[in-house]
Amino acid sequence: MYVIYDDFYLKHSNGSGHPENSNRLTAIKGAIDRWSLKSRIAFRKPRSAADKEIEMVHDKDYIQKIKDLSAMGGISYLDPDTAVTEYTYDCSLLAAGGCFEGLDLIFDRNDKSHKFFAAVRPPGHHAFKNYGSGFCIFNNAALSARYAQARCGIKKIAIIDFDAHHGNGTQNFFYDDSSVFYISFHQYPHYPGTGNFSEIGRGKGAGFNMNFPFMDKTGDPDYIIALLDIIIPVMERFEPELFLVSAGYDSHYLDTLSSLNLVEESYYKIMYIISYLSHKHCSDRIGILLEGGYEYNSTADSVLETMRGCFGDGPLSIVNKSGLENDLGIDRDFLTVKVKNKMILDRVKDIFKV
Ligand SMILES: [Zn+2]
Repeated sequence: MYVIYDDFYLKHSNGSGHPENSNRLTAIKGAIDRWSLKSRIAFRKPRSAADKEIEMVHDKDYIQKIKDLSAMGGISYLDPDTAVTEYTYDCSLLAAGGCFEGLDLIFDRNDKSHKFFAAVRPPGHHAFKNYGSGFCIFNNAALSARYAQARCGIKKIAIIDFDAHHGNGTQNFFYDDSSVFYISFHQYPHYPGTGNFSEIGRGKGAGFNMNFPFMDKTGDPDYIIALLDIIIPVMERFEPELFLVSAGYDSHYLDTLSSLNLVEESYYKIMYIISYLSHKHCSDRIGILLEGGYEYNSTADSVLETMRGCFGDGPLSIVNKSGLENDLGIDRDFLTVKVKNKMILDRVKDIFKV
C-alpha cells in the first residue's frame, strides 16, 4: 500500500505545548522506517490541493481567511484549541492534496495497489464548511469523498471514523446526502458533544449516518461486534465503491485526551474487517486519513497495525463472514461477556433493521 508523507507536514504549529504537534508524525515516520514489513509499503509525496478543489466543500471566504491569517504570521485562533500560524494554510492544502494523490493512485487502472495511508496534518474531521475547530482546518475526509465523486468516477462512499471524538464536521457535510454513508465510533459524552445514536441523517440522508456513542473504557469487543453484526450487513445493502477511514488513535488506552480502551491490535482487527468489506464491494479500495492520536508512541505502533490489517494475503482469500471470524479468532461467547455498550448496539441494530 501507499503511504503519503512529506516533512513539510511538520511545519504546521498550534503553538508550544499543544498536543497536536509535529512529534506525532515524526513518531509515525520513524516507526514505519524501522518496521519489519516496510517493504510492503511505498512512500509517495503529496501535492498541494488547489483552492478550487478546497471549494468543493469549504466556503471561499473561509479559505481566504486561513490564507490571510497564515500570511500574517504570528498565531491566530479559530477556537481556543485551533491555531493558524505561518505554515497552516500551505500544510492544509498539502494535507488535502495528499489525500487526492492517494485517491489518484488507488484509482489508477494500471496500479495494483488499492490502499493508501495519508500521514497528514492538520487533521480534518472537526472542520465545517465555514469554520475550523478541534485542531482541524480543512475537512480531509469530506474533501476526499467529493474528490472521489468528481474525479474517480464513483458515487457511493462509506466513511468509517474510529477517532475517539465524534467527527461532527464530517457528519454535517453529508447529513442530507445518501451518497456518503458516515459511520463513527467515539467516546460519549465527550468533545464535541454530538454523535448520539439517534443522529441518523435527514431528508434523503436519513439512514445514511450511523453513530456508536461508547462509554469511557470501551475496548475492542464493542467495535468488533458493531462491525460484524451491524456494519457488514448495512454495507452489504449500501454497496460502497470506496471506503475512507478517519483514523484517529486517541481511541488507544494510553491517549492523553480520551479514555477509550483500544490497544494496537484493535486497529489490526478493525482494518481487517474493513479490508474484507472493501474486497467484497470496492476492489479493495481504502483511503485511510490520519486524524487524532496524542500519545505518540502508541499512535505510531497503532498506525503499523492499521496497515498490517490492510495487507491480508490470507484474509483477502476469505469469501464469507465465518471465514473472517475464523481468521480473527473471534470467540463470540467471550465478546458477548466483554461488550460494554449492549444497549447502544441493540438500539443501532433496531434503527438500521439488521
Ligand atoms: Zn480525536
